[in-house]
Order: sequence, then structure tokens, then C-alpha cells
Amino acid sequence: MAPPKSPSSPHIVMFPFMAQGHIIPFLTLAKLLDDRTPYTITFVSTPLNIKNLQSSLPPDTSIRLTSLPFNPSDHGLPSNAENTNSIPFHLFIHLCQATQTLQPSFYHLLTSISQQDCGPPLCIIGDIFLGWTVDVARQFDIFHVAFSSCGAYSMAAYFSLWLHLPHAKTRLETFQLPGFPETFRLHRSQLASYLREADGSDPWSVYIQKQISLSLHSNGMLCNAIEEMETTGLEIFRRIIAGIPVWCVGPLIPPSFIDSSSSSSSHSLKLSLGRTGKEPGISIDSCTSWLNLHHPRSVLYISFGSQNTISIPQMMELALGLEASGKPFIWVIRPPIGFDVSEDFRVEWLPEGFEERITETKRGMLVKKWAPQVEILSHGSIGGFLSHCGWNSMVESLSQGVPLIGWPMAAEQFYNAKMMEEELGVCVEIGRGVEEIVGREKVEKVIGVVMGGTEKGEDMKREAVRVGEMIKAAMRGGEGVEKGSSVAAIDDFIKTALSKRGVVE
Ligand code: UDP
Repeated sequence: MAPPKSPSSPHIVMFPFMAQGHIIPFLTLAKLLDDRTPYTITFVSTPLNIKNLQSSLPPDTSIRLTSLPFNPSDHGLPSNAENTNSIPFHLFIHLCQATQTLQPSFYHLLTSISQQDCGPPLCIIGDIFLGWTVDVARQFDIFHVAFSSCGAYSMAAYFSLWLHLPHAKTRLETFQLPGFPETFRLHRSQLASYLREADGSDPWSVYIQKQISLSLHSNGMLCNAIEEMETTGLEIFRRIIAGIPVWCVGPLIPPSFIDSSSSSSSHSLKLSLGRTGKEPGISIDSCTSWLNLHHPRSVLYISFGSQNTISIPQMMELALGLEASGKPFIWVIRPPIGFDVSEDFRVEWLPEGFEERITETKRGMLVKKWAPQVEILSHGSIGGFLSHCGWNSMVESLSQGVPLIGWPMAAEQFYNAKMMEEELGVCVEIGRGVEEIVGREKVEKVIGVVMGGTEKGEDMKREAVRVGEMIKAAMRGGEGVEKGSSVAAIDDFIKTALSKRGVVE
């Protein structure tokens, strides 16, 4: 039960970047902090994001959702463009740049909280991509931590790459990253196109380098990482950000999915809305009934996250490869490249008769629009996840002991895939980026390796279960139970914030 909130208890102010992969773990952290501390949590975003999140919280919650005025059209964006999941990739940078105009209203919000509480908030947890929140925190002398929704290894690579531009002149196919051991080499194809071309003066470089530099002046970093799972990555990350304390507080997944004992379908649906603020495009009951038809660990789940997608020719090849593999599957379909992201599903995106065939034979299920992902992954019939390697997706999968087929497409996804394959042995990469088409034969072959009872597939499964146990252990806590590393880190982070304020608990 959450400790009682006194009207005079200070605030923790949380401000995620406007993307589902950031808002979702932030909200989970907000709920954990609300449960574990007597402080009032104020969760800040723009009006549409806040409106979507309202359904995510129970009516009796003490978390306050606060929106800052934001008009996307003032920044050359469509009127609903308040989240990366509602815009195509080429507009992402405009949304990033526009976030900086929220600085004055964030300042006003902190002023009014400070007046109401007769003192400034206890701390600000600002997204690493909103580094400018550090500047605002400084003006009030508030303890600030930069939050990374990603793991430590990928953040280390991300920082190293963006702080050592350009990479366009790198002649070698593979190269070493500053701050990383000599044995660690990246291939040029593991650089997103905008990073490959970045030279320090283009809009991406200017925005990201600035946010990283500002975040390096934060009082600490909170990572959606698990200390035991990323020992090497953390060592490198700590070295790169020299001297800033890092608290690993992951996995930021609702505790009921870490503790597998609660899985009634109505409960799960409630959690799905509560976790993501988005209405699933399919009911959890339909998913569960369909999954119940299949053998344990036999179904492949396919999703490219909340903002990535593939081309129509690629969808065709993937569909035919899935059919050829003989494995049952659930495929979450977002409109292909070139289509409006909110467009309704069209049959011509897939091979003729594909949907009818897989539906009739119960071989496959298509989820058009948002899927209740964590609920699907936690069903015992899921045996593999073909993923774009977004960090949240990877951790959600591993927390359920589900091995991965990696298809990194952008941002830090390339380093996530590399880490999962090379360090943890729980992933096989099937493709890289969206320019080259992955043929149906390769799709069939890789699915066969991971889910066809091969020695490699069995090893991956075993490792995924082992890592899953590690992930679960990190979040253990409560009466009479020794605290897991992430629970202990959350408590230590709060203790540090209090000590900086001169309050010792
Ligand atoms: N997600 C979901 N349903 C979907 C697509 C995504 O619930 O149909 C959730 C997923 O469970 C994860 C987040 O959205 O928590 C996506 O974050 P991730 O880091 O995996 O990828 P991103 O979308 O940021 O690229």
C-alpha cells in the first residue's frame, strides 16, 4: 500500500520525452515511486499525451498529470503530432526541436509548485532527450536526474557515437568506439542513416549533442537497466559519463508481469490500458483464446514497436516466410513506409489471400493497431519474439524468458541487438535497417533456428529463461524479502535526493 501523502510532502516532478517507449517506462517508474514514497508525483507532458494517460491511472491515484501548453502546428507539425508514434520519421526532429519551447512553461510549473509547497520539489526526473530540464532545475537548485529508457550498453554506444562525430569519413567497414574495449567493433550498417551522415552542424547533431551535454551536468542518471544483466555495459557507461552516479532501476514493467501469479484476462486488460494509455486494437480475451489453441512456447510474436515500420515489399516477404516456417504467429501491423501512420489496414499490403488462409487455419493472427504486448508476451504459448529491438520490447520479452529474433531499424536498436546476441546469447539478428529486403527464405530459416528445436534455439531459450530470472530478481522486494538490485537502487536514489536537500530519513 502506498504511504499516505501529506499535503506538505514535497513533489517529485517527472518529464518523459514524448514517445511511447519513453512515456511507458516513466509511468511505471511513477507508479513505483508513488507506492514506495510519501512524495507527490507530478507527471508532466503535452495535452494530448496527458489526455491519453488519464485512463492509465486509477481514479484514487495521487499521481498528478500535468500538461504544458503545446501547439504542434506552431512548429510545422500536424495538429496531433505530440508523440513520435503519430508522425513519420522525417518529422521526429521537428518534434525534438519543439520540445525546447516548453522550457518557459516548465519553469512556470516549477514556480507554482514551489509556491504551493513553500519550497521547491524534491527532485526532477527529466528524460535524457530533454536535457534542457537540467537548466531549469539549476535555476531552482533542484536535484535533477536524467532518465534513460534504454539499457546501459546501448546508451554508452549512443553517447560515444554522438560525441565523436563525424562517422561519414570512417573508411573501414567496422570501427572501434571511443570509450569501448578494443574488441568491441561496430559495423557501418549499425549506424542509423542520420547518424552516419551527421557532422555536428545538422539538426540531429545539434539537438542530440546538446541534450547529451546538458544531461552530463545532471546530478545522476536513472537507467531502465538491470545491474546484473549489463555488467560490461554499465562499466563502459559509467566510464563515459565520468563521475555521475547511475542507478539501475529496470525493468520498468508493471510488477504483476514480473510476478506471474496474476493473469486473469480482465485484470490484464486493465493493466494494458494502465500501462500504455492506449486502447488495444484487439481485446486481450481474443488474444488469450487464440493463444490457448497453441502449444506452449510454439507461437512467434512479431512487432516493430510504436514508431518503426517496414515497406510493402518487405511485408510481402515476411508474410510468405512466416507461412513457410509453419510456426503459428501473432503479427502487429503498422501502416507500411510511405503511408499515413494512422491509416487503417489495407489488404493489398499483404499477399493475396494471406489473411484468410492464416485465419481459417488458425495459423496466424494479425493485430491491426496497438497490441497488448506485455500480456501477449506473458502467455505461455509465446516461444519467440521477432522485434525491432526497442529496449522496452527486449526487456519485456526476456522478463518472460522469450528469446529474440532481432531486426534493428533505427536509433540505439542496433546496439541493443548486438548486446543481446553477443553478450547474452538470447538473440539472432535477421535483418538490419529497412533499405535491404530480408527474403522469405531467410525469414523461414531464422525462425527454424530459433524455434525449430535446434541446439542453438534450445541454448537461446535456456539463456532467455536465465536472464528472465535475473530480471525478476532485480525487482523483488517487500516484507521479509531481500530487496533486488533495482528496488534497492530506487530507495538509494530517493535517499540521495533527500540528503542533497538536507533531509535525512
Ligand atoms: N507497445 C505495445 N503495443 C504495441 C507496440 C508497442 O504495448 O502495439 C509497447 C511495448 O510493450 C513497449 C513500448 O510500446 O513497452 C515500445 O517501446 P520500445 O522501446 O520497445 O520501442 P519503441 O516503440 O520506443 O521503438
